[in-house]
Amino acid sequence: MQHHYHQLLQQQKQYFHNGHTKEVTFRIRQLKNLKKALQQNEKAIMKALRQDLNKSEFEAYLTEVGFLYKEINEAIKNVKNWSKPHKVKTTLTHMGAKGVIYPEPYGVSLIISPWNYPVNLTIAPLIGAISAGCCAIVKPSEQTPHTSHALTQIINNTFDPEYIVAVEGAVQTSEALLELNFDHIFFTGSEAVGKIVMEKAAQHLTPVTLELGGKSPTVVHHDAQLDMAAKRLAWGKWTNAGQTCVAPDYLIVHQQVKAPLLKALVHHIQALYGTNVLENEDYPMIVNDQHVERLSHYLGEGDIYYGGEMDKEKRVIGPTIIENVSWDSSVMRDEIFGPILPVFVYEHEQDVIEMIRKRPHPLALYLFTESDSMVQYINSQFQFGGGCVNDVLYHLGTSQLPFGGVGSSGMGAYHGKHSFDAFTHHKSLLHQSTKFDIPLRYGQMKAALNILKKLIK
Ligand code: NAD
Repeated sequence: MQHHYHQLLQQQKQYFHNGHTKEVTFRIRQLKNLKKALQQNEKAIMKALRQDLNKSEFEAYLTEVGFLYKEINEAIKNVKNWSKPHKVKTTLTHMGAKGVIYPEPYGVSLIISPWNYPVNLTIAPLIGAISAGCCAIVKPSEQTPHTSHALTQIINNTFDPEYIVAVEGAVQTSEALLELNFDHIFFTGSEAVGKIVMEKAAQHLTPVTLELGGKSPTVVHHDAQLDMAAKRLAWGKWTNAGQTCVAPDYLIVHQQVKAPLLKALVHHIQALYGTNVLENEDYPMIVNDQHVERLSHYLGEGDIYYGGEMDKEKRVIGPTIIENVSWDSSVMRDEIFGPILPVFVYEHEQDVIEMIRKRPHPLALYLFTESDSMVQYINSQFQFGGGCVNDVLYHLGTSQLPFGGVGSSGMGAYHGKHSFDAFTHHKSLLHQSTKFDIPLRYGQMKAALNILKKLIK
């Protein structure tokens, strides 16, 4: 296995050095090929997502395939511009010289993806790699075997393996790939595996982009538009049955509005997912039995306010709200990554700060309020990857906003131009003039030091 991957990597390095991928026309052609391949295989993708996660076609289009078409269209339209070298101003000490930044592909990238949005999280980084002019070896998740198999076939039927290749496999495959000397690694997954990836990358000083997870809080202030907050929360928390890296992990609501908010939340849960969720044919299932076990354990760690229904055989757990949960319980230590929402209340804004600071920098933070000062206050208190005011999840769909974490929720960002940047080294070159040679730097003029002090102070 190791030898085979080593050979693949060497072939890709050779292909990269031949310079094919540096042509913008080549990149655009490959982006178009990718879009066509996705379109032609859309039915197979939808079927695989149904088999692995019971994703409905609507949800799959909104959060996976449709999202990718948008990203590809944007890349096709802008890649020429993104990849152009651009001049920058130089200072007076560099008179006559010209500074130029050359966006250059890293080379051969390794892309490792998780199971929760298996199509999106495999192909969106690949769009960045193609746009930037990288070659890539792609390893989708073993936890969604139908989707990963379909993706592997699509990728391998579309691209020459010397350029882009997908390999199926589990941890061992990942481990074997991580031994190799890639030029860049783009990893999406858990914090624990993110640490392994970074450690392996350090052996070769390979730059990494790490898209990780964590516990993303949602705060609802007393002045929020409660019905709208509840509706958006009901949608964002239980999309993909809560198996979303930026899903609202837990809720902190002002004590004055807890009762009406939860009442509205239940109303919207029922409107979106039905009163008998176990019979809802479009409600996503939990990815595997191990995660069903993990999540069912959390149900015992608080009082169930709503939900709690479960069909272990079908791997379905209904939208569940729990209260009276301890911060020391596993549901508040782990990233929940499932359909359970613990609720906490606060009286003073300082309480919110104390609660959120109990956990590392989140990947996302959501705040519902009509007050600008509350937004300013909360925003100034924490580092977090990104988020929304008066919404959840929606920042992901705005490709102008870089998507990524900070600290234990990740490093680096992507989407839109940021995906291009994630796979790009911005090489800088100073083009010096030979028409004259300003003597200042040599220190041989009498007044050199005085001039220098005047220029730089
Ligand atoms: P994971 O870390 O278990 O697996 C991700 C990938 O790493 C898989 O392809 C897997 O085969 C590989 N892998 C697993 N163990 C490995 C090991 N020991 N060594 C090398 N490779 C290994 O993550 P997951 O369970 O697939 O996904 C869930 C996690 O991903 C959550 O923490 C979630 O928040 C995070 N996530 C983050 C984002 C984001 O964009 N920031 C998106 C989706 C999911």
